[in-house]
Amino acid sequence: MGDAKFLRVTCEDCGHVAIIFERASTQIPCSVCGATLARPAGGKAELVGSTITDVLE
Ligand SMILES: [Zn+2]
Repeated sequence: MGDAKFLRVTCEDCGHVAIIFERASTQIPCSVCGATLARPAGGKAELVGSTITDVLE
């Protein structure tokens, strides 16, 4: 898997904390409010409505 990481992100809408894969290949919704947290962008997830609080290696 190389250097791919998991990211701990916080939903900007509801504050829910989610763990997402750095190289997500699908859009990732918040499991609480349904807002889009990240979307795939050239092999690496682009955060949309969320902010990174931690990087898990
Ligand atoms: Zn949310």
